[in-house]
Amino acid sequence: MNFPDPADEAAEREQQLIEIVLANRPKPTMTYTGLCHNGDCGEKTTKGFFCCSECREDYERIERAKQQRKVA
Ligand SMILES: [Zn+2]
Repeated sequence: MNFPDPADEAAEREQQLIEIVLANRPKPTMTYTGLCHNGDCGEKTTKGFFCCSECREDYERIERAKQQRKVA
Protein backbone atom coordinates (compact mmCIF):
# COMPACT_ATOMS: atom_id res chain seq x y z
CA MET A 1 0.00 0.00 0.00
CA ASN A 2 1.06 3.55 -0.68
CA PHE A 3 0.53 6.36 1.81
CA PRO A 4 1.22 9.81 0.34
CA ASP A 5 0.47 11.46 3.68
CA PRO A 6 2.73 10.34 6.56
CA ALA A 7 -0.09 11.06 9.01
CA ASP A 8 -2.24 8.52 7.21
CA GLU A 9 0.47 5.91 7.47
CA ALA A 10 0.89 6.58 11.19
CA ALA A 11 -2.85 6.29 11.74
CA GLU A 12 -2.90 3.05 9.79
CA ARG A 13 -0.06 1.61 11.88
CA GLU A 14 -1.76 2.71 15.07
CA GLN A 15 -4.97 1.00 13.98
CA GLN A 16 -3.10 -2.23 13.28
CA LEU A 17 -1.45 -2.02 16.68
CA ILE A 18 -4.82 -1.57 18.38
CA GLU A 19 -6.19 -4.58 16.53
CA ILE A 20 -3.25 -6.72 17.64
CA VAL A 21 -3.73 -5.63 21.25
CA LEU A 22 -7.45 -6.34 21.10
CA ALA A 23 -6.87 -9.74 19.51
CA ASN A 24 -4.54 -10.74 22.33
CA ARG A 25 -6.63 -9.36 25.13
CA PRO A 26 -8.53 -11.92 27.15
CA LYS A 27 -12.12 -11.81 25.99
CA PRO A 28 -14.68 -10.50 28.49
CA THR A 29 -16.77 -13.54 27.64
CA MET A 30 -13.98 -15.80 28.86
CA THR A 31 -14.72 -15.89 32.53
CA TYR A 32 -13.25 -18.60 34.67
CA THR A 33 -15.85 -21.33 34.93
CA GLY A 34 -13.76 -24.27 36.11
CA LEU A 35 -14.51 -25.98 32.81
CA CYS A 36 -12.46 -26.21 29.64
CA HIS A 37 -13.43 -23.47 27.18
CA ASN A 38 -12.82 -25.69 24.18
CA GLY A 39 -16.36 -26.08 22.85
CA ASP A 40 -17.01 -29.82 22.96
CA CYS A 41 -14.55 -30.71 25.70
CA GLY A 42 -16.16 -29.67 28.98
CA GLU A 43 -13.31 -31.08 31.09
CA LYS A 44 -12.83 -29.62 34.51
CA THR A 45 -9.82 -27.39 34.77
CA THR A 46 -8.17 -26.00 37.85
CA LYS A 47 -5.53 -23.71 36.44
CA GLY A 48 -6.98 -21.79 33.53
CA PHE A 49 -9.46 -21.67 30.71
CA PHE A 50 -8.39 -24.98 29.18
CA CYS A 51 -7.70 -28.48 30.47
CA CYS A 52 -4.70 -28.97 28.20
CA SER A 53 -2.64 -27.20 25.56
CA GLU A 54 -4.38 -29.14 22.77
CA CYS A 55 -7.72 -27.64 23.79
CA ARG A 56 -6.22 -24.18 23.93
CA GLU A 57 -4.78 -24.61 20.44
CA ASP A 58 -8.09 -25.93 19.16
CA TYR A 59 -9.92 -22.97 20.62
CA GLU A 60 -7.45 -20.46 19.20
CA ARG A 61 -7.65 -22.08 15.78
CA ILE A 62 -11.45 -21.84 15.83
CA GLU A 63 -11.32 -18.22 16.98
CA ARG A 64 -8.85 -17.37 14.25
CA ALA A 65 -11.04 -19.03 11.64
CA LYS A 66 -14.01 -17.00 12.87
CA GLN A 67 -12.04 -13.76 12.60
CA GLN A 68 -10.86 -14.59 9.12
CA ARG A 69 -14.43 -15.29 8.05
CA LYS A 70 -15.43 -11.87 9.36
CA VAL A 71 -12.68 -10.14 7.39
CA ALA A 72 -13.18 -12.03 4.14
ZN1 LIG B 1 -10.33 -29.52 27.22
